[in-house]
Amino acid sequence: MHPSFLLSKTDFYSLFGTGCHGCEFPIEAGDKFLEALGYTWHDTCFVCAVCCSSLEGQTFFSKKDKPLCKKHTHTVKI
Ligand SMILES: [Zn+2]
Ligand SMILES: [Zn+2]
Repeated sequence: MHPSFLLSKTDFYSLFGTGCHGCEFPIEAGDKFLEALGYTWHDTCFVCAVCCSSLEGQTFFSKKDKPLCKKHTHTVKI
């Protein structure tokens, strides 16, 4: 393993500190992630809380930190 990779990974953790708000696993260097609702998410974890469809790049809504797609934003009472 290349030393500079380890270094950048350490930097990454010190920078972000927290894991994904969806699955609560740490976001590793090289993982795709996005920031929304004030949290960091794996791109695969930022999905509608009801239908699990990906919200990456989509219009989304939220209730109590849970992302919801357009279709479900009015159907859920959290
Ligand atoms: Zn995740
Ligand atoms: Zn949905």
